[in-house]
Amino acid sequence: MSSEGSGGVLLGIDLGGTRIKAARFSTDGEWESESQSHSNGREKAEEIFAKLHSVASDLIGSDRLAGVGVGVAGVFDAQSGRIVKSPNMPTLNGFDLRGQIQSAFGEVPIHIMNDANAAALGEFHAGAGMGAESMFLLTLGTGIGGGFVSGGEIWEGVAGVAGEVGHMCIQADGPLCNCGAKGCLEACVSSWALIRDANAAAGEKPDSPIAALPSLTPEDLAVLAAQGDEDARALWEKAGTMLGIGIANLMNLLNPECIVLAGGLAKAGDLLLKPARKTWEVQAFDRAHESTSVRMGKLDEWAGVRGAVQPLLRP
Ligand SMILES: [Zn+2]
Repeated sequence: MSSEGSGGVLLGIDLGGTRIKAARFSTDGEWESESQSHSNGREKAEEIFAKLHSVASDLIGSDRLAGVGVGVAGVFDAQSGRIVKSPNMPTLNGFDLRGQIQSAFGEVPIHIMNDANAAALGEFHAGAGMGAESMFLLTLGTGIGGGFVSGGEIWEGVAGVAGEVGHMCIQADGPLCNCGAKGCLEACVSSWALIRDANAAAGEKPDSPIAALPSLTPEDLAVLAAQGDEDARALWEKAGTMLGIGIANLMNLLNPECIVLAGGLAKAGDLLLKPARKTWEVQAFDRAHESTSVRMGKLDEWAGVRGAVQPLLRP
């Protein structure tokens, strides 16, 4: 598939803490090819941008670039074109991303947004949310993120902070979160929360199968739970129950047509979903949980790349 002779190519880029992913699209949004580069989040801003530039240049080749969309892990200020704060890539704090893209690729349309919002737009327009009127994307991974799409548009909030569902309080006086608050959804359900609880369980029962695991990862804990280990099952039950409270809150607050679950932890499937469903069916209003469907994401880790170009597509 080539865009030769058409209106050029669009690039979608997902600038994350561990990987820079990019794909080229036709101006109609048709996916053509993709590429990626690893980043450790501690490199200098110039080095991170050089990787982005290299991945992007390979994808563009000799074709005409018609626009660049970027989803960035952090808070972006559309007025200044700068990244305000990127917790996973602190060297990018204050980085003039729009200016650098303009210098590197010329005067093409550029759209930059938060990576979770980009992923939400991707799932809404080309994944599990296709055909829905409204959708909330809940990304369950190392951290927990989200984005709310209504009528095709992201709800960014007055200062771009909307959708920070990972820091919605689930348990007052619950475990301490990385953000400094207590009992955030992320402090109860994320990969790191699960590993923290697994370590505690292993410490309490040094002769248990959990303590015998060579590494405590969500994947290993899922295998152990599937084998019927009670301690591993209890960890997933607890995480799923907390997730269910978060989902019930979203259902009652927004009542979207669907809530889409994505991210590495979502791969645990029923281990998380069964206790979560049991909880949201009690915690959410009947009319809310009966009308909001919960679905698995379809674009996996490429949702952000797809969503990043959405604002640049021909209407
Ligand atoms: Zn928090």
